[in-house]
Amino acid sequence: MSALPSRRPPEARIIDEASSFANGRLGVGYDPMRGLRAVGIGLLHLPPVTLLFIGTTATDWLAFGVFYVLVLFALGAGLHRYFAHGAFTASRPMQLVLAALAGAFFADPIRFAGSHRLHHRWADTPRDFHGPARGWWFSWIGHHLEDGYSDSELLAAARDLAQRPELIWLHRYSYVSGTGAAALTWLLGGYGVFAAGYCLAWCLVGIHGGSAVNYFCHKSGRRRFETPDRSTNNTFLGFVLFGEGWHNNHHRFPGAARAGVRWYELDLLFYMLRVLTRVGLISSLRDIPETHAAGESRGQGEASQGKSDRGESSGRGSHGWGAVEAQAKPWLKSGVMKAGSKTYGGPPTI
Ligand SMILES: [Zn+2]
Ligand SMILES: [Zn+2]
Repeated sequence: MSALPSRRPPEARIIDEASSFANGRLGVGYDPMRGLRAVGIGLLHLPPVTLLFIGTTATDWLAFGVFYVLVLFALGAGLHRYFAHGAFTASRPMQLVLAALAGAFFADPIRFAGSHRLHHRWADTPRDFHGPARGWWFSWIGHHLEDGYSDSELLAAARDLAQRPELIWLHRYSYVSGTGAAALTWLLGGYGVFAAGYCLAWCLVGIHGGSAVNYFCHKSGRRRFETPDRSTNNTFLGFVLFGEGWHNNHHRFPGAARAGVRWYELDLLFYMLRVLTRVGLISSLRDIPETHAAGESRGQGEASQGKSDRGESSGRGSHGWGAVEAQAKPWLKSGVMKAGSKTYGGPPTI
């Protein structure tokens, strides 16, 4: 395991000092939420299993398709690209819609953004709780139960979001919004829609899709860019998760709304966000630098094809949004972020 980066902003040192991991608290002590999450995840896996015995209808599978897209958008575009990375700008009402959508699937924007930003900061080091460093079981299930960070660490890492009362409410009660949405789905759509739509889509995307990215996209696969972590692109996950599997690209350009770099790296979430930009629901969609988007010859810091060694050419901090901003060129079409715009916001770099 390589040494931790030496150049760190003051916030990182504060987080270090308060680190629950540093205090050896992971998996220790009574945490009622850990048990609640375990029971919830287990319970929501049961309805899809019952479909093997009671059968399904065309309506059930239609519901599955709708919910699959809905969960992927809520968690991939909303939770990940917007709340964690600020890859586009949304008005307060639109932010509330994205938060409600995430909350409907038991997601908490503050908890996810906090832990995910720390994942990007410490990826593949002992402080990373998302990756495969702690083994398959923890990477796949364990981190859903306990992400390894204290509440104060998460709030510090997502302090821009913690200023919003509605997001703080979701931070405390996302199990209420999730349970309510699940119950409403059952009530309005019937058991088949609930089991094949809500539960199956949530289990596949919210639990196993995210875990597959956390594990496989830091374990094996192809690396296009020399990043200071072990992130990889996974073709299968890239397609089935609408772009979320192009994880090495994402670690190279974490602040961009787009993860697919080459034309064949399908990134449906980015296209959905472009549509929302066109109709004015969101704005300032951040793209990757034009040279990479156009699929031109390999740029600086780009890895050779196939598995590559851990990149050592540049520091971890140089792969934050600042590096992208410095290289960004105006996108060819309207509605996508132009470098230097006054709306060029985003979350704090941690
Ligand atoms: Zn990662
Ligand atoms: Zn990310």
